[in-house]
Amino acid sequence: MQRYYQPDIETASREEIVKIQNEKIVKQVRHVYDNVEYYRNLMDKKGVKPEDIKGIEDIHKLPFLKKDDLRECYPYGLLATDLKNCVRIQSTSGTTGKRVVAFYTQHDVDLWEECCARAIVAAGGSDEDVVQVAYGYGLFTGGAGLHGGAHKVGAMTLPMSSGNTERQIQFMMDLQSTILCCTPSYAAFIAESLKDRGYKPEDNKLKAGIFGAEPWTEEMRQAIEEGLGIKAYDIYGLTETSGPGVAFECSEQKGMHINEDHFYAEIIDPDTGEVLPEGEKGELVFTALDKEAFPLLRYRTRDICILTRGKCSCGRTHVKMCKPMGRSDDMLIIRGVNVFPSQIETVLLNEGYTPNYMIYVDRKNNTDTLDIDVELSVDQFSDNIADLQEREKKLAAAMRTMLGIGPKIHLVPPKTIQRSEGKAVRVVDNRKLHD
Ligand code: ADP
Ligand code: ZN
Repeated sequence: MQRYYQPDIETASREEIVKIQNEKIVKQVRHVYDNVEYYRNLMDKKGVKPEDIKGIEDIHKLPFLKKDDLRECYPYGLLATDLKNCVRIQSTSGTTGKRVVAFYTQHDVDLWEECCARAIVAAGGSDEDVVQVAYGYGLFTGGAGLHGGAHKVGAMTLPMSSGNTERQIQFMMDLQSTILCCTPSYAAFIAESLKDRGYKPEDNKLKAGIFGAEPWTEEMRQAIEEGLGIKAYDIYGLTETSGPGVAFECSEQKGMHINEDHFYAEIIDPDTGEVLPEGEKGELVFTALDKEAFPLLRYRTRDICILTRGKCSCGRTHVKMCKPMGRSDDMLIIRGVNVFPSQIETVLLNEGYTPNYMIYVDRKNNTDTLDIDVELSVDQFSDNIADLQEREKKLAAAMRTMLGIGPKIHLVPPKTIQRSEGKAVRVVDNRKLHD
């Protein structure tokens, strides 16, 4: 079986990768400086000229770009080529505020799809596979990216888009899909729907899934792997850098290789902007080394992450990023304590509950409140009030141990929490209403 989509580059030596990065960054900075007035002004203000960037080690001299810059430049302000050369527009899902639009030339689309093709091959995909793409199609990058990647690999692409779960299942069974691509929350929903219809994990032909676009825990991975009888691989990306495929998991399933020949990654201290040494936790920053139309330099993702370099059993040499530990702006500060929704998910799954939950934060009498609705499975359901209250107390205690603050738990009947077909929304912070 094919192990790599582009073996030369995916297993290139460190020296070869640095050489490629050195060449590309010099050209890219010149391209951006000459064509993007907004970034040219930022560089001028910082006193940096394109000539000052002689290789990748000079990258720290460049100014950062933030999401606010993208909003300010909406829609064309960061475009680095004639609109005539562009063949595609995609947009963020708008999880955190106003949408951002990104532009692609044909070269940019190819580069992006190749990154997704690398991810599919790393998950064991080849031209023998039927790849069911159940990410949303349209402006969202998930559908388009994996669709293009599956084409490049030569697989049979099943362009389902998200939603219509009944039809997803019918096609999955009738057309014998072998690889499923969607958000992890939708994968969990599909697994649940299969079970509800009496299917066992071995009844489907799936062998792997490529799940990303939102944070998910190791416990969630295990639940999906068991529910669908597959290996579940993580994939990471953001519209600002292309879409999914900036980084992907390999057979080791321990961290995602970043496609370093196209995207240079740094970890910075989010407060000071200082570049942190390898292995330290901080904000992930990306520079697109060879994109033409929308080449962001030193873009601050707000994703908190750790980079590690080391030998990987898959043979790939590219640096790895850990699962993002939530966005800096996903973090909830409740009564002064930092709480990440992923910590809540971990406790729930460890305690044997389903990944169907909702987190409500509010402020009452000047005190923050944290309420978590947790859905019971049919087997767990009981109408014995005392028994339910006992379980709620036990779960609240487990949460307190993990989070440092105790939530109020509400166990709710099966199928009462809305399922997600795309990026799950699991947090409602009502405090903003009172501000
Ligand atoms: P939006 O900002 O509107 O959500 P995107 O759809 O481009 O825009 O989403 C990109 C973001 O999604 C990333 O910055 C990251 O926070 C999140 N994301 C993408 N893939 C993953 C993943 N595999 N694990 C965790 N978070 C992810
Ligand atoms: Zn690997």
